[in-house]
Amino acid sequence: MTKKELVKLQQEVTLLRAEGKYKDTIQNCFSLLNASMEMKDYKSILTAYINLAASYYCIGDIEEAFKCIEEHEAICNIHGDDLDKLNSYNISFLIYEYNKNIDKSKATLEKSIALGKKLNKYNIVSNAYSNYSHICMLDEDYNKALEMGILGLDAAKLHKPASPILELRVKLNIAKAYIYLKDFHDSKVLLDEMLNSPFLDSFPREKSQCYDLEGQWYREQNLYRQAYESFTNAKVIVESYNDIYLLKTIQEERCKLCELMDDFNLGYKLQKEYISILKEISERELSLAALKLEIKHNIMLLEKKAYTDQLTGIYNRDYLENTTNNWLNEAYQKNESVVCLVLDIDRFKCINDEFGHLFGDEVVKQVSRACSNIIREDDLIGRFGGDEFVIILRGASLNDGIKKAEQILETIRSLNINYGDKTIDITVSIGVTDNLDSMAMHFSELFRAADMRLYKAKRSGRNQICAVS
Ligand code: GH3
Ligand code: MG
Repeated sequence: MTKKELVKLQQEVTLLRAEGKYKDTIQNCFSLLNASMEMKDYKSILTAYINLAASYYCIGDIEEAFKCIEEHEAICNIHGDDLDKLNSYNISFLIYEYNKNIDKSKATLEKSIALGKKLNKYNIVSNAYSNYSHICMLDEDYNKALEMGILGLDAAKLHKPASPILELRVKLNIAKAYIYLKDFHDSKVLLDEMLNSPFLDSFPREKSQCYDLEGQWYREQNLYRQAYESFTNAKVIVESYNDIYLLKTIQEERCKLCELMDDFNLGYKLQKEYISILKEISERELSLAALKLEIKHNIMLLEKKAYTDQLTGIYNRDYLENTTNNWLNEAYQKNESVVCLVLDIDRFKCINDEFGHLFGDEVVKQVSRACSNIIREDDLIGRFGGDEFVIILRGASLNDGIKKAEQILETIRSLNINYGDKTIDITVSIGVTDNLDSMAMHFSELFRAADMRLYKAKRSGRNQICAVS
């Protein structure tokens, strides 16, 4: 992939997420991740992780979202700039809030506030205070919620150009804190200010929240009929933008108020509406669960494809290298042995030249299949490239490796690969080593040692094993 294509893919994932196409975002992010890791392009890696985290969050796969945030954070600490850090804090906050982790939510918001101030980004500061106020309310600390709301309003006023939505959001929190502190005067002043604001009609979500709050204001003072009217106003607006979860809480309020008003006819009607909301939620959650499964399955396929050699279906060089490195690492710690066989088809060029490339391919496939049948399930086989294969045996001695190599040699010799009515003799040469013998800590060292022995086997006449340096 070229740098230009990488940038295009970055833009694509951001756009897909903005359009709410989470499945496509996730799949494209994995392609972006693969390409950007190969090119060591850290900006792209960060873009992929942040979009993955946000998309997983939106489809409710919090566990995956969390993993992506951790990856993002680790890379951000070394390669990220302030903007990347802000992105990281924003999405971390959402996840902590979802998990109702008050302390971590607050700690993340404090970081956002500090960084937002440093960058003179008062919209970020104001939003963070607004969220802080909301978290304090969840914690039933209404004094602190009020304090944070007021700081948020100050920050909103510093933002240039003036942003009515910033102020509106933070005022909603302040008004709510006043209500729960039983300050019905100041809360009413703020509520009226918001409800009479000429900007309110442009922001239906905030408008519905204003009515919802007005309902709470009346309810807290036992003014049930008026509270019911306000919640009904809120409900109508929420229906226009279809936030089913907010609709559910508003409907619960309306149902409770019916009981308090002893209006059983209305209560019956509302219960029916409530049930249909619950039904819609359960349908939505079912389809989200199906979507999550589908995404997991697709990602598994993508990963498999990224690690598989197309012609033979065994592992490719990347997987060989990564897995062997992990095995070598573990083996070093436990003082265990890892054996490596490098196998190459003899005079394969002649086979291609004489019988054609397609027949050559068939030979590669049959050799791969024969080797796969011989090794244990716990061992590893991959195609290194061309007519060269690597087999890694775990917890086996060099002698075990030699025996296995002999078995492979014999099996390949007796393969019957036919070209028309002619049986073509195939032989291979194999170099064998282990991590102790070659003092290898890394795949490349282990491979080089075995490959040198393979070269010796070739020079000594092919169709044989070499296990000495
Ligand atoms: P040697 O005994 O020394 O290994 O001789 P060789 O002819 O096998 O030499 P070498 O291993 O260097 O040649 C490998 C050849 O395999 C070169 C290339 O044309 C051919 N080759 C590489 N990949 C493929 C493939 O996917 N399919 C086919 N049919 N041929 C391939
Ligand atoms: Mg060869």
